[in-house]
This record gives sequence, C-alpha cells and structure tokens, in this order.
Amino acid sequence: MSDNYHQLVDFISKNSGLSNEDIERRIEAKQAKLAGLISKEGAAQVVAAELNINFDKQIIKISQIVPGMRKINLVGKVINLFPVKEYNKNGRSGRIGTFILADETSNIRTVLWDENHIDLIANGQIFNECVIEINNANLRNNELHLTSFSEIKISNKLIENPVVSQSFFKKAINQFSPGEKVSTRAFIVQMFEPRFFQVCPQCRKKVNEIGECLGHGRVVPERRVLLSFVIDDGSDSIRAVIFSDQIEKLVPKEELEVPELFSGRKKELLGKEMVLTGQVRKNNMYNNNEFFISDVGEVDLDNLIDELEK
Ligand SMILES: [Zn+2]
Repeated sequence: MSDNYHQLVDFISKNSGLSNEDIERRIEAKQAKLAGLISKEGAAQVVAAELNINFDKQIIKISQIVPGMRKINLVGKVINLFPVKEYNKNGRSGRIGTFILADETSNIRTVLWDENHIDLIANGQIFNECVIEINNANLRNNELHLTSFSEIKISNKLIENPVVSQSFFKKAINQFSPGEKVSTRAFIVQMFEPRFFQVCPQCRKKVNEIGECLGHGRVVPERRVLLSFVIDDGSDSIRAVIFSDQIEKLVPKEELEVPELFSGRKKELLGKEMVLTGQVRKNNMYNNNEFFISDVGEVDLDNLIDELEK
C-alpha cells in the first residue's frame, strides 16, 4: 500500500500547497493521536478532510483507493458479473448486484444496492467486459458500495489490460504464502489465553527461568505477552499471533492480566469480522503457516472516521 500512500501525499500536497514533508508530519501526528487505530492511509484521509481537500471530482485508479475513502469516482471494466441476489433479512428485502470491477492497476469487488442500478444488470446494459464509470461510491469492508446517491453509467473508454488476478485489498487465506505481507478480512473463530514471557531488553530473546540471557548474562528482563487466535475467511483458517506492542489494538493490556476481563473481551471478539494485516510465516515445527499480525482494523472504518471528524 505504500505506493498509494505516496500518491495520496502527493495529491494532498498538490491541492493544499503544503509540502510533502509537512503533510507527512500531519499524518504522523494524526496517527499518533489515534494511538495506531488507523492506518497511514486512513490518517491521510482525515488530514485531507481537515484541509478541505475533496476527491469529489477526481477520477482515481483502483489501486489509489484507501480504507475510509468516500465519494470515489472511477472507470473500470466489469470482469466478473455475479447473478443478482435477493435478500430478506430482518423484515427488509431487496436485491443486491455484485461484480468485480478492474482497471489497469487492480480490481475490486463492487456492490450495488440501488434498484435502478441493479436493473442495469437485470436488463443486460451492464455485462461482462463492459466498461463503466462510477461516481460517488464509498469504500466499505474493502468493497466498493454504490447507493442511490451514487451514479453509474456506461463508458466508451477502453481498458486494455485490466488486472484480473489478485485483488489489491485483501487476499483470501487459502492464497497466503510464507514471507508475504498481506491484508485480509476474516472472522475471529477461536482465541487462546494470553501467554506471558520474559525477554532480554537488549536482544529481545527469551531469558531462562532465572532471568539470564544466553548472550547478555544476567539482565532485568522485560515482560512481554502474546495472544494467539484463529481466523477464518471462508476459504481457509489460519493461526494468528499478535505481540505486546500491537496487542492493544485487539485487547486492552489491563484486560490481559485479569482472566474475567479477558474472557469477557474474548466473548465479544469471537465471531467478529476484522481487517488484519501482517506477515505470513512458515512454522517449521508444525509445517503450517502462521500469520503475525502487525495491524488490526475495524471492518467499518467509515464510522470510525466519521467519529474522528466530529
Ligand atoms: Zn540478550
């Protein structure tokens, strides 16, 4: 995502007259203020909003979409059109149209909620391989969502080489390979008790029972904690591990220490869908992959940003 981040900084800089360095400083300050609750890209969006920069008229590429973005305009080719689905949930019923939209940079799952838009699929005006222009769409759950405030029209632009493989945002767990840094949206399906351990403050390696480091001898060890849990996105499940510095994004530290508080939090987290970013590593002992989490995000970042902007 770092290319997008830089594009975003350039864009904000160009439209505000502030230097890139200045913008980056504001973004870092915003991120620090929000205690890591928000990604760099998300913080950039908030900074852009504070500077009254809007992306309203801007046609962007799919790879430039970042979490939390709203009023998205883009042109893309429909590469995989799914049958219109009917739903009936909590007394509300309606139809949902879904397709994968691609441009030269990436592709994204696109969801239509408006009956008039869905009719475009039903009556064949939107079909596989057609190019469309979308205005005023929002990003939700890493998908592009179109409401009745959005517009959709057939475009005569050409998209020669749409990216058909590997979507930009999320990767399904069954496609994870060791060494990769990935982001995925998945449900927490199982969570284990936190494990406390002590490390050498100099080399961060585990110390033995009497507080000695193999390389540094007797040290005053630091207490660390790790939490492991299992996530599942429907394609597969994987064991995820999160360490001391990041753990707070999932469970407040004080709750880790108190079993009753922890089990309450655990209950809340089980079954919850989250956006998880991290690195896939091979566990040689068990010959399987593990997911080392570096960032945890709420699925609905829009709400978070709304709250922060107040
Ligand atoms: Zn050491």
